[in-house]
Amino acid sequence: MDLEQLNARVSAAREAAEARGETFYPGPSRIHLAAFPPKERWDDWVELDSKAWPARVEKRYMLVPTTCFNCESACGLLAYVDKDTLQVRKFEGNPEHPGSRGRNCAKGPATLNQVTDPDRILYPLKRVGRRGAGQWVRVAWDEALDDIAIRVRHAITEGRRNEIMYHVGRPGEDGFTERVLAAWGVDGHNTHTNVCSSGGRAGYHFWMGLDRPSPDHANARVILLISSHLEAGHYFNPHAQRVIEAKRRGAKLIVFDTRLSNTATHADHWVAPYPGSEAAILLAIANHLIQHDLYDREFVRRWWNWQEYLEREHPTVHPTFEHFERVLKTLYTRYTFEFAAAESGVDAATLHAVAETVATAGTRLSTHTWRSAAAGNLGGWQVARTLFLLNALLGAVATEGGTYPNAWNKFVPRPIYVPPHPPVWNELTWPREYPLAINELSFLLPHLLKARRARLDVYFTRVYNPVWTNPDGFSWIEALTDESLVKLHVALTPTWNETACFADYILPMGHGSERHDLHSYEQYDGQWIGFRQPVLRAARERLGERVADTRQINPGEVWEENEFWIELSWRIDPDGGLGIRRYFESRRTPGRKLTVDEYYGYIFEHSVPGLPERAAAEGMTPLAYMRRYGAFEVARSIGPLHEQPVPTQELAGMRVERTGRVYTTSPAPPNPNIVPSGSPELDAEGRRPVGVLVGDEIVRGFPTPSGRLEFYSSTLAEWGWREHAIPSYIRSHIHRDHLAPDQMPLISTFRLPVQIHTRSANAKWLDEIAHTNPLWIHPSDAKRIDVATGDLVRVETEIGHYVVKVWVTEGIRPGVVACSHHMGRWKLHDAGQRQMMATVSLDHTDHRWGMRQLAGARPYKSQDPDTLKIWWTDVGVHQNLTFPVHPDPVSGQHCWHQAVRVKKAGIRDQYGDIYVDTSASAEVYRQWLGLTRGADRHSPNRTRRPYWLMRPLRPAKDAYRLPDPGEPVGVVGS
Ligand code: SF4
Repeated sequence: MDLEQLNARVSAAREAAEARGETFYPGPSRIHLAAFPPKERWDDWVELDSKAWPARVEKRYMLVPTTCFNCESACGLLAYVDKDTLQVRKFEGNPEHPGSRGRNCAKGPATLNQVTDPDRILYPLKRVGRRGAGQWVRVAWDEALDDIAIRVRHAITEGRRNEIMYHVGRPGEDGFTERVLAAWGVDGHNTHTNVCSSGGRAGYHFWMGLDRPSPDHANARVILLISSHLEAGHYFNPHAQRVIEAKRRGAKLIVFDTRLSNTATHADHWVAPYPGSEAAILLAIANHLIQHDLYDREFVRRWWNWQEYLEREHPTVHPTFEHFERVLKTLYTRYTFEFAAAESGVDAATLHAVAETVATAGTRLSTHTWRSAAAGNLGGWQVARTLFLLNALLGAVATEGGTYPNAWNKFVPRPIYVPPHPPVWNELTWPREYPLAINELSFLLPHLLKARRARLDVYFTRVYNPVWTNPDGFSWIEALTDESLVKLHVALTPTWNETACFADYILPMGHGSERHDLHSYEQYDGQWIGFRQPVLRAARERLGERVADTRQINPGEVWEENEFWIELSWRIDPDGGLGIRRYFESRRTPGRKLTVDEYYGYIFEHSVPGLPERAAAEGMTPLAYMRRYGAFEVARSIGPLHEQPVPTQELAGMRVERTGRVYTTSPAPPNPNIVPSGSPELDAEGRRPVGVLVGDEIVRGFPTPSGRLEFYSSTLAEWGWREHAIPSYIRSHIHRDHLAPDQMPLISTFRLPVQIHTRSANAKWLDEIAHTNPLWIHPSDAKRIDVATGDLVRVETEIGHYVVKVWVTEGIRPGVVACSHHMGRWKLHDAGQRQMMATVSLDHTDHRWGMRQLAGARPYKSQDPDTLKIWWTDVGVHQNLTFPVHPDPVSGQHCWHQAVRVKKAGIRDQYGDIYVDTSASAEVYRQWLGLTRGADRHSPNRTRRPYWLMRPLRPAKDAYRLPDPGEPVGVVGS
């Protein structure tokens, strides 16, 4: 059915409903919503019981919203709570959610599988025996909390704050835990981001001072995606539905992906480049726009920091725009289509056609890259920087159908308390060799610990599984089993995982329908917040019950983190003497513990413009409104905030810098809805940046040092990377020139659309669809090494090898292989997610590690009869174990692509075999460390890092100062 037919059908349904005197449900997506239960009937929704068919048995439900936790998109879900049993019967989309508009991918409804997973962890567990031996006893929450709290307290009071670390995988919230750590005075926040998106973030951050793009796909004329955004990319479902809307209206879709992804099958131009050559193609397109005067001169003149570029790099040229244009015409002349064709293997005529399509976009060019090429390659951050160059050339920045800075399409409310910045700097997460890294060097932790730069007293992993997710997992096992390096490892997780097996405590945390969180993400030109909540708690409260502790309604003793951190903080500082407890106390009743109701109630009442009024109009408190609907759209049609004039009352004590940056002595406005126009870097007199002088008007600009879009990054230039200060092409570590004749690149970054990293392993609906990860190989390569689909090959990396089946397909470029990182889960002992984990043996002698699969998945008896129907045994191979760390010296991103040799498996090789030498991985770590330009030598001002660059948890400014020369980095005894 096309859109016109759909609309006609909706109109007919509307008229029919109105003729019957019924309300037609409009909902936020404005089309096709007759299928959604009208929100007026969410207290008592009736459906026929499908299992009772053909009898017509009515089931009555209470519909309670929450937010999906199975990727970062934070789509809305509606839990169908059976009114007879008060159990969740199913999850469907929440039509009141402005981002997802009632739609979900397969992973959203599969939340039910996670909740009912027969293998999930229901009670706190404590290790007995040696770490990793798989012996556990159940303990009371009180015992675990007291033990952890006293250790944290001692670390704080004994001046060992840097021995506390919280390491998060999927955060699923906007800053709650950062503030917990700030309240403890600890710089212990660590994320997974440098194995994920920091390459992409760096490219955007150097351009606009904000680290993500917000493409307005729905209104674009041309959409350019690097990677498979329709089925597995960032903001997958919310973006995918808008890309399809645009395509229906005639927009052109260009997809760069070396594999024929589902997204590529929808493209008007599918470009399958040699991996790592993407920036060369993008620069060829940019060069085409520049040479043919196809760019938006006025936008470039107003918004690029071309003047600063000329003054710094061409001091003899008079800094006029006309002179800049002349220089610009010379900058990218080597990036011809022929050059890009030689780099990428895509013919020049195709690239020319793509460039001409881009040129037709005008200001309606929406572009996006996130993981993919930016996460695969040395210098991958330049992929994001060169992609955004196209937007910046066409003026397609913060325009309808263009690409916005993310913060303009995201709303983060001010919370009830904002603790001060921690006074310390943690070298384990922000080592001085990587002063420009966009996020923590999380995946280097084992190497930094083994180098005895520091040790950890209390290490929390939370929804994070580095042994399996990160490269070099055996080095993680070595570090986690050394109790002199990690004294106490606390795993906060809803499910078993490879890392939790090496913990001292496993503390069960809730899935997406069992916990509170706040979200907001950039998915269109608007701002919304989404509220994740424990749905059974909300259901019971709707029935008039009072639930004081989420453990009362979750299965077993599963908790949620908000209440956990509040309780733990009270135990760390029971009398308030450390100054911590006050951030976890009630404002309404001082001396009492803060509750989640008060925490979120305060935010919704005080920090979300328009929400109190909307709630009042429906006779509700703001908290009750969010518990009922789960999401609220704060603003729509934000537009070009950089062009917004700065009000004169904000310009007291104004000073205008040479670059046009305007500083003021007036305080920042308290309204959180105003996007910060300044970076946090104050001028020498302590004034804050407030805007930028453009023409004769002071407007908000961008939060960069210059206030403009930084075509030229003075930060890169000043911190040792002058040759990369403008968008450029860096040849990847897997560039052909760097490969031996018998090596080929392995793309290891792609996802399976229906799997989550760790938490979907017992989502039976998803497992049945996708449960293995064969090696994609082109028929010409398969012929060369004499293998057919299903045959085993040995894939040799720098530090070892793995044995996997091949899938021979023309959906991959010749000379390149690919393997999804989503599979190959394993367990050493009985405990585990049995639907998707192989049982393995693990042998090691010194630094040589071997893994062999003993058994795959098989049917088993549980309270879920479906587990007896498991028909698959193959659960894939854990390839990440065989990858060494490859930290990009600028962005800090782990560069995932590998140079590998693919050989027919030997007689002794078995499917799933893995061999690794961790001394080789330590050597590769040292080689990549040698690429860095550290703060000790390259900092222009004796600080560890430019203060204006983002940090998830920013320490106090004093902590940025580098220690005096000669002072040790922080070596500890063994
Ligand atoms: S895209 Fe899928 S997994 Fe991600 S939040 Fe939406 S429904 Fe959940």
